[in-house]
Amino acid sequence: MKLSNRISTLTGDGDDGWALLYRARALKAAGTEIIDLTIGEHDIRTDPSILAAMNESAKGGHTGYASVPGTKPLRDAVASRVSARTGVPTTRDNVLITPGGQSALFAAHHACCDEGDTAAYIEPYYATYPGTIRTVGAIPRAVPVQADNGFQPTATDLAAARGARSLLINTPNNPTGVIYTRQTIETISQTVLENDMWLISDEVYDTQIWRGEHLSPRAIDAMAARTLVVGSMSKSHAMTGSRIGWVIADAPVIEHLRDLATHTTYGVAGFIQDAAHFALTDDPELERRVGAPFERRRKIAMDILDTQNTVRLIPSDGAMYLMLDIRGTGLSGDSFANTLLDHHNIAVMPGESFGQAAAGHIRVAMTVDDDALAEALRTLCAFAAGLLPEQ
Ligand code: PMP
Repeated sequence: MKLSNRISTLTGDGDDGWALLYRARALKAAGTEIIDLTIGEHDIRTDPSILAAMNESAKGGHTGYASVPGTKPLRDAVASRVSARTGVPTTRDNVLITPGGQSALFAAHHACCDEGDTAAYIEPYYATYPGTIRTVGAIPRAVPVQADNGFQPTATDLAAARGARSLLINTPNNPTGVIYTRQTIETISQTVLENDMWLISDEVYDTQIWRGEHLSPRAIDAMAARTLVVGSMSKSHAMTGSRIGWVIADAPVIEHLRDLATHTTYGVAGFIQDAAHFALTDDPELERRVGAPFERRRKIAMDILDTQNTVRLIPSDGAMYLMLDIRGTGLSGDSFANTLLDHHNIAVMPGESFGQAAAGHIRVAMTVDDDALAEALRTLCAFAAGLLPEQ
């Protein structure tokens, strides 16, 4: 039987960008020891206090259907967190709880785009973006931004989004670790207003700020009405497996998204929502503790990278990634990553996996312990230096 065109073409050309990760996993399964710097997942598990809250809730009976848009206490907790962080008055009517940020990205595009509409996204991009856009029948359009401008979108870059129904941005950014400046956010907002577009702002790394500050575009004049913010507890609280996130938007948008949830996810497990509520309200220090290893490792990495000049670190101030410019070696990101894996059992993601705008780069996830990261980076730098032509 023939499957739908939509599902058969979700990954576009059939490459989901994760080939290197699959290869590293196959090597691991065959017994090779790999330092795995491919995946954006903490090397710690969910805090035991959150698990205890989850357990208590489940044992207390919160195992039936939960409120589809999210429980009132959780939506209230998310709303006050967003109000406090952005200064934009936010109530539970602005919040839909979703099974993770990924589901929130899907819901947000569903709310903004009709079949056949163009949905723009900044490149380099998180690997699921084009496929997520295709799931709603919209047509993805990449808006490449420049490595030489620190991957900050400019007005010239953003002209490529004209005519699209929505623009998807991500700050702090995966894969680059870059935090958009106030000027960038203002330029993006201007483009969106001038071209009468929706803005979908993926802020799942908003607690991982190592320098400077995170500005949500929802806080810019006239933007709250046309911005849908995607949030998640995956990265902030090491709750990747719990599948808990949200969309923040104007109340009428949330009203429609509640309908979508009724007909797709039917909400998120009550005991997960209770655990999330506990995590957000009981111990505000927890998210700082979850992020601290990445801030520490970023410093370790900078010290190592400072000792050489073959590999250049893209100035980045947030999230759990380092984007390294390896164009000086003459290799593509793809062949650099594959050769590094073959010769040194170190797995990093080729920049090309995140779009051609990151060609000649590699992404390093700082998700192994400090010593392993330091060892891997020293080896990587020596490997890169060895690729240079003899002087
Ligand atoms: N957006 C970005 C930029 C991400 O990196 C991720 C996960 N790696 C997600 C969204 C989705 O995260 P989750 O569904 O776990 O909340």
